[in-house]
Amino acid sequence: MAEQQPYRVLLYYLFTHIENPEEVTQEHLDFCKDLGLRGRILIAEEGINGTVSGTIEQTDAYMEAMKNDPRFKDIVFKIEESAEHAFKKMHVRYRSELVTLRMDEEEYVDPRERTAEHLTPKEFYEEMQRDDVVILDTRNTYEYDLGHFRGAVRPDIEAFRELPEWIENNKDMLEGKRVLTYCTGGIRCEKFTGWMQESGIENVAQLEGGIISYGQDEEVEGRLWDGQCYVFDQRISVPVNQVEHVVVGRDHFTGEPCERYVNCANPECDTQILASEESEYKYMRACCHDCRVHPRNRYIAAHELSNEEVERRLQVIEKEKQNEPVNT
Ligand SMILES: [Zn+2]
Repeated sequence: MAEQQPYRVLLYYLFTHIENPEEVTQEHLDFCKDLGLRGRILIAEEGINGTVSGTIEQTDAYMEAMKNDPRFKDIVFKIEESAEHAFKKMHVRYRSELVTLRMDEEEYVDPRERTAEHLTPKEFYEEMQRDDVVILDTRNTYEYDLGHFRGAVRPDIEAFRELPEWIENNKDMLEGKRVLTYCTGGIRCEKFTGWMQESGIENVAQLEGGIISYGQDEEVEGRLWDGQCYVFDQRISVPVNQVEHVVVGRDHFTGEPCERYVNCANPECDTQILASEESEYKYMRACCHDCRVHPRNRYIAAHELSNEEVERRLQVIEKEKQNEPVNT
């Protein structure tokens, strides 16, 4: 066994009614700061959703306190070991929704009243191998592109709130099928699958505890997962499949296998792109020409590139484009 790491990352959520969520938000921030935790927690009238990092003692104290709080006692914590903090600061924020779907009142489905059946990692693993299932990734494209379950459908969405419309437009693919949904820690499916059922896709099941629990399950050991799992903290990605590692990420510029995410150097774009160190250097970390020559390109500023050097790199790119065989 590997030696225990000194830090932990806790991932958790709970749909529950919270009285005076704005007050609770302030109290919870003070509480987390006192403990020395760092992370991001959202509190809404519909519940709590958080990722925090801290030492073993700090995270133990937090989980203990939450279990003793009647409002939060039913939280199931997903615990990952870590070499260091996964966040720079501690934020607790009030939101009107824990995960943003922005549905009208009539369309809103309370996940405490209706959500799809939960499958354990083992059940999910077994069902994925059936012929009559559709595996549906409920995350965004940049998450899917770094890693996903083998054969999973990739909705073309950049934010969770776009998913209902995508489903409406792609109902043919899902209707009458057994649909297996999954997300990082389970909260998006928990919120979303009730709506799916209401909208006519009845036979839905969701992965309990999400990808993180699946990767930790001792029996399935992350099997049938390809690539890495995107996470919303400084780690950016975590491994899932303990048996084999198939790289599915592709370098934005070269199409070569790649699992390294960077943000486009144009601060107004800031799109996440997969790029090797070599591509980052060559393309000055910009997703496209316009971003490359943007006056506030952060790569050029951080590396203090002279105008001549920028011009030289642009010419290399230009030359290569011209030498490229037509078509392909
Ligand atoms: Zn860009």
